[in-house]
Amino acid sequence: MERLDKTISTLMNLTRSEARRLIKIGKVFVNGEKAKAFDTKVDEQSDITVNGEKIDFEKNVYIMMNKAKGVVCDDKGKFPYAVDVLPENMKRKDLFCVGRLDKDTTGLLLITNDGDFAHKVISPKNHIEKCYRATLAEPIKEDDIEKVKSGMTLSDGTVLMSADIKVLSDDRKIVKFIIKEGKYHQIKRMAGAFDNKIEDLHRERIGGLTLDKSLENGQAKRILIKEAEKAFDI
Ligand code: URA
Repeated sequence: MERLDKTISTLMNLTRSEARRLIKIGKVFVNGEKAKAFDTKVDEQSDITVNGEKIDFEKNVYIMMNKAKGVVCDDKGKFPYAVDVLPENMKRKDLFCVGRLDKDTTGLLLITNDGDFAHKVISPKNHIEKCYRATLAEPIKEDDIEKVKSGMTLSDGTVLMSADIKVLSDDRKIVKFIIKEGKYHQIKRMAGAFDNKIEDLHRERIGGLTLDKSLENGQAKRILIKEAEKAFDI
């Protein structure tokens, strides 16, 4: 059980004092009765309405975002944070990004409040596949493909697991990377190791969970846990 004011502030993305004000002015009902105390104890079984609208008391939420360029996965405040650019009806205080995409990378980003779920997706032990479509500055060479497939070593000595790479365009500049780990700037550093450069990077898939093609750049949608868990399929 949790305090009513804390619950409302978390689920509605309000400050504690804004939540208390709503209780004070009689806008909050718990199980059909007007709430009187800030510390009324509530849980997932409680029926809470605020301004006549039932609030979503789901404990865990899973959001699929098609991250736009310029949006970041940390809340340091320099650039727009993925959680802050969610539509108002999806915002909650306890959300965070599952892993990281660079500021200039687009595509599949999961956002949740479920720490266990996030841990399973990002744990290096699980070797979850991540699939990226990349545009390179120069055509990829056969040699480079072999290096990627056999497990390459980056300039700082980092040894990478073998990965897969598929050439998607005749000019050999658009390729698909399928990696099973998530080292810092991994794809960019791989390209750098064969004297190439990533001009555009888009994540299409995590495990068995593919970005919904109907999600436009920057859009997000709630998904059910069943779907989110496809991210563990390797
Ligand atoms: N590799 C990168 O270099 N950047 C990303 O955002 C993801 C993988």
